[in-house]
Amino acid sequence: MLPNCACSRFDVAQVAFASLAGKEADDLIKELKDTLERIRPDYPVLQSAPLPEPPGAPARLFYNGIIRTMRDDLPLVEALVIRGTDILGVGTLQAMRDLAPGAREIDLAGRTLMPGFVDPHMHVVASALLAPGLGLGPVAGEAYTFDSVKAKLRQAIQSAPSVNDWIVATGFDSSRLSDGWQNITVDVLDDLFGTKDPDQQNPVYIASGSGHTTYASRRVLKMAGVPEYDPPQPDGGKIATFFEDEKDTGRTSGIFIEYPAQKYVLAALSANHQGFPEDAKTLGLNLAEILYTAVASGNTMVNEAALGIALGSAALEKAAIETVSIFTARPRFASAQYVNQYQLGQTGAHKVQWDQPNLSDPMFLQQAIKLFADGSNQGVTGLQREPYTPWARIQTERDYLGVDVKGNQNLPVSALSTLVGIANGLGWQVITHANGDAAIDNILAAYQASNEQHPDNGALRNRVEHCSILHDEQIDLMVRLGVVPSFLIQHVAEWGYVLKKLLGDRAKLLDRCASVEKAGLRFSLHSDYTVSPLEPLRRVQTAVTRIMDLDPDHGVLSADERISVVSALKAQTIDAAWQCHADQYVGTLQAGKLADLVILDSDPCTCEPTHIGDIKVSETWVNGAQVFCAAPHGEVSAA
Ligand SMILES: [Zn+2]
Ligand SMILES: [Zn+2]
Repeated sequence: MLPNCACSRFDVAQVAFASLAGKEADDLIKELKDTLERIRPDYPVLQSAPLPEPPGAPARLFYNGIIRTMRDDLPLVEALVIRGTDILGVGTLQAMRDLAPGAREIDLAGRTLMPGFVDPHMHVVASALLAPGLGLGPVAGEAYTFDSVKAKLRQAIQSAPSVNDWIVATGFDSSRLSDGWQNITVDVLDDLFGTKDPDQQNPVYIASGSGHTTYASRRVLKMAGVPEYDPPQPDGGKIATFFEDEKDTGRTSGIFIEYPAQKYVLAALSANHQGFPEDAKTLGLNLAEILYTAVASGNTMVNEAALGIALGSAALEKAAIETVSIFTARPRFASAQYVNQYQLGQTGAHKVQWDQPNLSDPMFLQQAIKLFADGSNQGVTGLQREPYTPWARIQTERDYLGVDVKGNQNLPVSALSTLVGIANGLGWQVITHANGDAAIDNILAAYQASNEQHPDNGALRNRVEHCSILHDEQIDLMVRLGVVPSFLIQHVAEWGYVLKKLLGDRAKLLDRCASVEKAGLRFSLHSDYTVSPLEPLRRVQTAVTRIMDLDPDHGVLSADERISVVSALKAQTIDAAWQCHADQYVGTLQAGKLADLVILDSDPCTCEPTHIGDIKVSETWVNGAQVFCAAPHGEVSAA
C-alpha cells in the first residue's frame, strides 16, 4: 500500500478504534503490556529490545572504516569512541586509543559509519491502527487498474459474513490508476452489490491513500443521514455531488472531502463499528513491527507528526509507544501533538488540551503542535492559487469536484493565525501540513502574524510540512520569518508524473531542495510513513537524482533542484534533528552527544547515485546500544 499523504487519514482510526480508545488510558496500557508479555515468546520482534549494559562496561572504539561526522569542521575522522549512552570523542585512531584505554575495538572493515538517520515526519500509532484495513493502493509488481480495485472490493463483499459487516479499506489512489482516473462512487458500489437498495448493501468505508478523501456506500450514507440529493456542505470540506454538462445535479456521489465532510461518515463508523483492529494484540504487534522496521532501516530518531490523532490522546499514544518499547528495539522520538483544529471552526472555542513543550527526555521529545492547511495535490484537494489543469478537471468533474477547482482550504488564514498564535505563545513549535501554493501562502501569513505578536519566534523553528509547490517569493518570505520546510521527497519519485498532468508547469516547483538550500534555509526530508517507506537512503537517491521512478519515461523533474549527497544526508541527520529541536542531543558525531549511529555496507558519497537507495544498513545503535545488526561483524555479534 502506497498512499500519497498520511497526515489526515487517521481520524478513521480514531473513531474506528473506539472499542479501545473508550477505555481508561491506564486500562488500555495495562492490557497492552499484559498482552505483549503473554505473547512475547511467540514473536521475535517482541524480544528485540537491547539489554541494558552493565555499569562500568568499557568504552567501544569504532575504526577502519569511513566515519562521516556530518560536521562541517571535521567531516571525516579515523575513529569514534562511545561509552554508556554517550559519544566520548572522535579523531585519529591514536587519539581515540589514548582517550579510552581498554576500549573494546570494533573493526568497521571498510563500512561507513554516520550519525543515525532522523525521520522528521512520520506516523507510528495511526499506521499501526490502519494496517489491518483492506489495502486498495498500488502493489509492486501488480497492474494497478480500476478493475483490479473493484475485484478486491467484490471479493471483500462476497466474503463478508453478513450484509451488516463493515468493509473498511485504505490506500485507494485515483491518480495512479494505469487506465485513467476513476472514483469509487455510490454508482460504482451499486454495480458491485447488484442493487441500489441501501439495506441490501454492506456499509463500505474507503479512505484514499491521502486520507483527505473518503468513499462510502449507500448504506453508510443512510446511517449518516446524508440525503441522496442536496447534501449539507460544511465549512472546510465538501460532500461531493455528480455533475452533468458542467451543471451540478445535486445528487450525492458518496465522496467526502476533508474532515468537516468526512466526519459525517466517520460518525456512522464510530457508532456502528467496534473493534478495528480487534484488540491490544494487533495494536501492540503492529506498533512493534513499525518501531523495529524504523531502526532496521537506519533510523535512530523519528518525529511522530500527529501524536494523539489515532487514539484521541497524545498522552495515551506516548504511553502505548513506550509500553511496546519495553519489548522492542526502537528509535528515539520527537513528537508533534495533533490539535483538533476543526472544533475551532465549529464552536469558536479552543477545545484543546494545551500543554507545555518538554525537551527534557531525549528518548521522547514533545516539541511541536500539528496543524493542517489543505489536502493532497494528487487528490486535487491541495489548495492552489490557480485552478488545476483542464486535464485534472476532466478527471474529477463528473463525480466529484465540479469546475475550476483550486483545492480545499481546511482553515482560513484567520483560524490558522489564531491557532499558531496560541501555540507559539506557549512556546510550542508549529508544524503545518501545506501542499498547494495557496495553502503555503495561508500558513506563512499565519506565521507572519504570530511573529508580530512573538518577536522571538525564530527560535521555535516553525515548519511547513511537505511544502510541495513553492514559489521564489515564498522562499524569500520563509527566510525573513525564520520558517523552514520539510519535504516529502518521494512525491518526486512516485507522483511527479501525476503532478505534471494535474498542475502543468507548476509541478516544476515541487520539493525545491536546491533553491531553499541556496536561500540558506535548513530543510529536511521525511517519509510521511506510510506514504513512503522508512528508507532514508531511498530519499537521498531521489533528492540527488530527481528521477521520477513511476514515470513511464523515468524523466528527471527539475534537474536544477538536485542536491549533493552530503546535503541530502544532512537533511536527514543534523538538519532534521535541528528541525525537531533535538540537535543538542543527536545529529552529528561529536563528544557529548548521544551515541546514535548507523553503519552502512557502503558509502553513499562514492556510490553511483542511482544505487544509493540499495545500500544496506549493517548496524543501528541508539543511545549507545546496538538495536539492529544485519550480520555478525567485528566485536559485536547479532543479538
Ligand atoms: Zn501531510
Ligand atoms: Zn503526515
